[in-house]
Amino acid sequence: MELLDGQLTSRAIKDALTLQVAQLKTEGKKVPHLAAVLVGNNGASETYVGAKVKACAEIGFSSTLLRLEESVSENKLLSVIEELNNDIDIDGILVQLPLPKHISDEKVINAIHPSKDVDGFHPENVGRMVQGLSTFVPATPHGIMLMLEHYKIDTRGKHAVVVGRSNIVGRPMSILLSGNSNPGNCTVTICHSHTRNLQELCLQADIIVAALGKPEFVTASMVKKGAIIIDVGITRVPDASKKSGFALKGDVNFKEVAPLASYITPVPGGVGPMTIAALLKNTYQACITRNGDGN
Ligand code: NDP
Repeated sequence: MELLDGQLTSRAIKDALTLQVAQLKTEGKKVPHLAAVLVGNNGASETYVGAKVKACAEIGFSSTLLRLEESVSENKLLSVIEELNNDIDIDGILVQLPLPKHISDEKVINAIHPSKDVDGFHPENVGRMVQGLSTFVPATPHGIMLMLEHYKIDTRGKHAVVVGRSNIVGRPMSILLSGNSNPGNCTVTICHSHTRNLQELCLQADIIVAALGKPEFVTASMVKKGAIIIDVGITRVPDASKKSGFALKGDVNFKEVAPLASYITPVPGGVGPMTIAALLKNTYQACITRNGDGN
């Protein structure tokens, strides 16, 4: 079994970006600038946004964190996005999900200009991804593809079972893995809460991507020997032994499944850091595309 180390892999990507940013500075060009919008005080969202902003600083990007009250109106949030769309210094905009119930995710996602949509959720960018055109690929599936590429894992012809069909993880993951690309060229089965015989399907999988948000759901009895296991899940589970009061659990029972797997991602330290690395790559790409390679 080989561990797919998201810390090491994301470090390599961040090191490369650091050099590219230094080069932009040397040439007197603009550095990438990410604007993150956080609505309310959700603890997990605070952590994720904090990690993204910190990563920007580490590699020399500019970043702006805009905090809005939980009670902010949808119209106010839309007008903040409009200002960011029109701000020529901002290259990428991300709105941390989930949003409060009174705000429509769809309206907010559609309001971000596609050229600044570094999360890759805007329908125009999703359409481009489906057609295999250059675009911003959603950060988590993009990060997983970068991980597979980094470890030179040959996915061609393999049967991938993706558990979860959300627009931010499962669905785009299934599209990327089935694409005519490397990594890619998989035969993909996408599963959800109505799937029958999930265990049988997983047992046929050469690759399992677990993205359902149910701690330790994937057990040894669902995994074929030699399978590649990508664990996307992050759930906070109460744990009195931790200072924070919780432990992070993946969707895979690591202890049981790791001995069977050829490759496996840990939680934490697997897909999470790769998601941030992919977001940074998207933001760099947005900056270069928006400003032209001559800036
Ligand atoms: P969602 O809740 O949006 O989607 C979960 C999906 O899993 C749904 O499609 C649901 O099916 C499916 N599902 C739920 N229960 C079962 C079941 N018993 N059997 C089969 N399918 C099931 O979650 P997200 O996609 O947003 O996130 C999934 C996990 O990944 C979460 O733990 C989240 O925290 C984590 N995550 C981690 C990231 C990282 O950077 N590592 C980034 C983003 C998310 P249905 O559609 O039928 O309801």
